[in-house]
Amino acid sequence: MNYYDYIVIGSGIAGLYSALLAIEHGSVLIVTKGGIEDCNTRHAQGGIAAAIGKNDSAELHFKDTINAGDGLCNEEAVRILVDEAPDRIADLIGFGVPFDTVNGEVALTREAAHSVSRILHAGGDATGEYIEVTLSEQVRMSPVKVLEYCLATEIILNSGQVCGIKAIDFRSGLIEEFGCKFIILATGGAGRLFKYTTNGDTATGDGIALAFQSGAEIADMEFFQFHPTALRLPGVSPFLISEAVRGEGGVLRNVNGYRFMPDYSQDADLAPRDVVARSILFEMRKTGSDKVFLDVTQLPATRTTTRFPHIYRFCLDHGLDITRVPIPVAPAAHYLMGGVKVNTWGETNIPGLFAAGETACTGVHGANRLASNSLLEVLVFSKRSIERTQVDTGSTIEKAGTIVDLYRLPSREPHRDRQMLNLAGLQSLLWDKVGIVRDVEGLYEAAVMLSTWQTLLPAPSDRLSYELNTMVINARLMTEAALLRQESRGAHYRSDYPTSAETWRRHIVFQV
Ligand SMILES: Cc1cc2nc3c(=O)[nH]c(=O)nc-3n(C[C@H](O)[C@H](O)[C@H](O)COP(=O)(O)OP(=O)(O)OC[C@H]3O[C@@H](n4cnc5c(N)ncnc54)[C@H](O)[C@@H]3O)c2cc1C
Repeated sequence: MNYYDYIVIGSGIAGLYSALLAIEHGSVLIVTKGGIEDCNTRHAQGGIAAAIGKNDSAELHFKDTINAGDGLCNEEAVRILVDEAPDRIADLIGFGVPFDTVNGEVALTREAAHSVSRILHAGGDATGEYIEVTLSEQVRMSPVKVLEYCLATEIILNSGQVCGIKAIDFRSGLIEEFGCKFIILATGGAGRLFKYTTNGDTATGDGIALAFQSGAEIADMEFFQFHPTALRLPGVSPFLISEAVRGEGGVLRNVNGYRFMPDYSQDADLAPRDVVARSILFEMRKTGSDKVFLDVTQLPATRTTTRFPHIYRFCLDHGLDITRVPIPVAPAAHYLMGGVKVNTWGETNIPGLFAAGETACTGVHGANRLASNSLLEVLVFSKRSIERTQVDTGSTIEKAGTIVDLYRLPSREPHRDRQMLNLAGLQSLLWDKVGIVRDVEGLYEAAVMLSTWQTLLPAPSDRLSYELNTMVINARLMTEAALLRQESRGAHYRSDYPTSAETWRRHIVFQV
């Protein structure tokens, strides 16, 4: 069996950055199920938040993050996030990421729910691509071994401790075993669970399913963020129109041209994401339309084309000159706040198993993520994970301040309709019943359907069937958590419980 000190699963920012740090301490293997640059990181537009501006402070960044998290942030983790941000940005610059500058100073923009401009960006609105390309080049030049088109299928434990993985190599068709001391799960989010999503094909929640099946704790799965503004054009994937577009002065109008956001929030177009997403949904229902419009025609055209070259070009390629006509948009599934529960050192409850990036739940996002905190979270907690592997702790997860309730997935009576599952069916079910607005009937129907599907799934053999298995586990965790949480908080909105309840200031955690 091939043996490495570290096995990193995934090659987005979390996988690449972790690998580049880990190689300083031992041998490293990255397995990644597509090409090295197939990931969500590549799609990130807006940028990375860090309190480095003159009128900013870690304290202000802390407050904004806590406000967005709606009572469920792990304050210790948030404190670490905001305090360590400037150093991690410096690391990224050290690796060669070319952040945009104005007059020699790093340029900062503002996004919704940030009280000041604190978002660093690269290539205007191509921040993720610049990071991914830069870090993957660094990895290629390093001694890190990379296995592309290789999907991790199982975590191998020995006496409860990590000792390796099984993975299927799509080029040879073989299932292989690799031994290791530490695993860094960096498999990203799970946006593909939904019919409309900004996420790429890789975001199927694999790390969460792998960890769950190995006995790791999975937290906060009911909190899934829907981005308010994804392009809504027939036959075009829901391409993200960054929040920074509203930060720079773009305004939302309904199909009748009416500017509706001031009716829903005093922050109008800069209200938190969940508020804007729901407001758009309600406005679409009210006007009987499948979209609203994001209008930047009032901004100087050169500002739009220089600040958002990627968005401008994408829309132009699809027949829309956004400097002249408003952009048709609708919400889409975007970011999973929950995931594999880790402490402030990235450790799970399984010795040797770490999780980083969107697959992890560090607690910094609470019930709702503040825009552009996710790339930052990756850097801060990946660094801490690798540091932790250098300390012999015996590893146990420390319990955060807030209350944690531990559950098992319930077994449910099978549904009468025992039709086989397909991907489109799963995505429609999640979008319709476990989406932006939820209620007990829809959630219960989804829960029964999903547990029935789980029993019918054949043994996986190719990438799609492995991913379908993974997605059903994620969908069950999300649906059951959303059923349990009888309140609305952050990104989780229940029309049958439209307000938040103090008794629900607690975390739902699942374990097998
Ligand atoms: C359109 C879009 C715009 C965004 N904009 C921003 C932004 O401006 N600022 C911000 O902070 N955040 C943004 N985000 C969120 C942010 O980009 C992601 O949270 C972050 O990039 C996640 O990085 P990651 O490394 O955890 O996952 P990813 O970048 O998704 O990488 C996951 C990797 O794991 C691999 N993988 C998955 N399963 C397996 C398996 N079983 N075996 C092997 N490999 C596997 C994948 O192939 C991939 O390489 C955006 C997200 C999207 C989708």
